[in-house]
Amino acid sequence: MIRACSFFGGFLVGSSLAFSSSCNKPSNRPFTKNENERWEQLAQIQCVQSRRNDPEVELQRLRETVLTREKEQQFDQKFQRIFSSNKYFIKLKKIYAQALEMEKLHQFSNDPQKDILIDRPFTEKENHNFEEKSLAICLQSRKNDPIVEIQRLRESEILTPENECWLNQADQEVGFHHKDDPAVHNRNIYLEKLKLAKKAYGQALEIREIFKSTHYVLIHAQSSRWLFLSDLITAFMKHKNEGKEIGHFQYLRMVPEVASHDITLYSKGKPGLRYEKNEQSASDLLFADLCFRNNAHYDSARSFLMNNKNFADENKMIAVTTSILRNFCPHLSSQECFKLTEKLFDLARNDPCIVGNLFVLCVPKTLSEKMMYPAHPAGSPCTCHAEENLRNRLEAIQNNEINPQTCCKALPTLLNPQFCLYTPEMTPDQMKILMIETDQEYRNRVKNETEKMVSVVYKK
Ligand SMILES: [Zn+2]
Repeated sequence: MIRACSFFGGFLVGSSLAFSSSCNKPSNRPFTKNENERWEQLAQIQCVQSRRNDPEVELQRLRETVLTREKEQQFDQKFQRIFSSNKYFIKLKKIYAQALEMEKLHQFSNDPQKDILIDRPFTEKENHNFEEKSLAICLQSRKNDPIVEIQRLRESEILTPENECWLNQADQEVGFHHKDDPAVHNRNIYLEKLKLAKKAYGQALEIREIFKSTHYVLIHAQSSRWLFLSDLITAFMKHKNEGKEIGHFQYLRMVPEVASHDITLYSKGKPGLRYEKNEQSASDLLFADLCFRNNAHYDSARSFLMNNKNFADENKMIAVTTSILRNFCPHLSSQECFKLTEKLFDLARNDPCIVGNLFVLCVPKTLSEKMMYPAHPAGSPCTCHAEENLRNRLEAIQNNEINPQTCCKALPTLLNPQFCLYTPEMTPDQMKILMIETDQEYRNRVKNETEKMVSVVYKK
């Protein structure tokens, strides 16, 4: 019953991402059920990632791993009788060999003796290794073309028929913030938006698959016009840290360096209070969906993604940009500051994106209490269910459940409540924030341009 690691030693020939370091279990102990599941998940991603389009090349890869000579002879005998055309024959053989690969992958789970395994949960370190490695594989296998990427996500069993069904349904119901939105009048633009949204949601679902056992994974959307702010801060920080990259930084809100209170100010606040007009709470709280199916007008990530809009307007953007410049370059004169802001705004004005950027926020389950709470629109805490059931409710929502135990009694029109994240706690050492951009080319251009501007004005 000891898992044959050597099988996968052969499996990964030619791959730079070796498996061994992530499944470093002691050799004298069998894999537990939990380990099996996670290991299979990872191996499956790796298999799909290493597939090749060309049937001949793919068959060669499979011969090096699972397709033995004996098995291939069996296939040959079976198909040659049916197909006279060599082209179809090869394609079919490829599909059967890929199925064989999947079968091999899951053979241990299907073993009736699996119950004898001692169930030991992953240690924190094992989880971390697993997550980081899986994420790296996912990011590497992403494709730019939305159609190709959607296909990849289907093959990885992320965009399952069930997921696509509710995604399509959510699309039909999402409203536009402005009646002059081009998508209202132009069907092609509308369809293009749907395609990009599906790609973004598929990628977010893929990230959730990786982190869901240790994290609550939420989504938040912002207008793509705000993109340059992340790059601006990242570029300044890089200079400040003498070339050292700062990692996964994403600009979401301006927050004070020292928080004057904690999340309970809001999470234990009076139900019914409206926070959205208050400047302090607007920077303290960030709305996000744990339920990916949410599509409420103005009260869901989907609504802001599809509309490519933020609540905050251009004046706010100017204020934020100016304060970043003042912070990093106190020597700049007002006129220089104004000129630079104008230049940065040109990037935003020439933004070609028709949908916004989706952010995936991974909150460790152990820290969720001090970082997030279920909220009604405008931020007042949801008190529809007993507080002691919150953990079960969070798990259920993350599992796509929509039922009387997850929904708000007070707000029957919402699928599930949104969550407020307390931004002063959203630090890189506490959580992971990943951005799913919709236009890689535009993203790179913004990044390069802001970096160039920063290197001209930054002085120690
Ligand atoms: Zn509620």
